[in-house]
Amino acid sequence: MTQLHITTPVLAHRPLSARLHKSVWLKMDNLQPSGSFKLRGIGLMCQRAAAQGAQHFVCPSGGNAGFAAAVAGVALGLPTTIFVPETTAESVRAEIRAIGATVIVTGKVWDETNQAALQSCEQPGAVYIPPFDHPDIWNGNATLIDEVAGKLDFDVVLCSVGGGGLLSGIVQGLHRNGLAHIPVIAVETEGAASLHASVQAGELVTLPAITSIATTLGARRVAQQAFDWTQKHAIHSVTVSDAQAVAACLAFADDMRTLVEPACGATLAVAYQNLPVLKEFKRPLIVVCGGIAVDMVKLEAWKTQFNLP
Ligand SMILES: *Cc1c(COP(=O)(O)O)cnc(C)c1O
Repeated sequence: MTQLHITTPVLAHRPLSARLHKSVWLKMDNLQPSGSFKLRGIGLMCQRAAAQGAQHFVCPSGGNAGFAAAVAGVALGLPTTIFVPETTAESVRAEIRAIGATVIVTGKVWDETNQAALQSCEQPGAVYIPPFDHPDIWNGNATLIDEVAGKLDFDVVLCSVGGGGLLSGIVQGLHRNGLAHIPVIAVETEGAASLHASVQAGELVTLPAITSIATTLGARRVAQQAFDWTQKHAIHSVTVSDAQAVAACLAFADDMRTLVEPACGATLAVAYQNLPVLKEFKRPLIVVCGGIAVDMVKLEAWKTQFNLP
């Protein structure tokens, strides 16, 4: 079974390395054909389902998960339907259609869209592709660590957390490569900090609402698996403000000539702000998770919104 995702480069972040007196490494998963790491997990899940006779993929997401499912479904030659809420921009719908998937617009909020997607999966052969909560997705996301294990000397991994599918994959990848001793810094924006709230409460918590502009991180409740890892692995849960996430996107665009979503900027912000959690580490590996919901116009608008210089 050939993989649908690509092996992404690791780059040194030279300006930040000099400023922090550390070796700051970047795993450039923004370069995946789907624009984010999500093709790793969703690609694997779709491949396994196809091998078991799936006829049709259904994914409820107008974001990076839907985009990855569209790329995977088309690559596997199976009809793929992406359900998006009415709030999804026409440009995003057009982008998903351009890949070759069908877009169905339904529901005012994601929960309604999700219900419609689940209903359509009642036809035989249709397989529901969730954004983060499935073992195949964690397994596929773990390939990110397979690609660096034994090749790169790092002492901590930094990643963003939405529903925790990326985090679960990274921790799984560390364990399956004999790197269970390597800690992870798990980053959320303040208005989307469902993992942080759960860690503080000592149990899985559902947030009443998402108030961050980093909507890609906006899962009100993380996967049970992600919370369970916080009890079994050294995971430092930290939060940054939306303004810090956007400032990091702007600095990263200048430093590395690369645009990423605030969902990814959140993790970069830990290094750009040199937060205390980084102090004990010398060789941080930052997962540049990417995201397609960003362009120059959006970055400029957020820059103005947060009064950034
Ligand atoms: C999906 C996504 C996340 C969050 O991943 P989870 O698996 O939901 O925790 C972060 N950043 C980007 C760019 C994403 O697409």
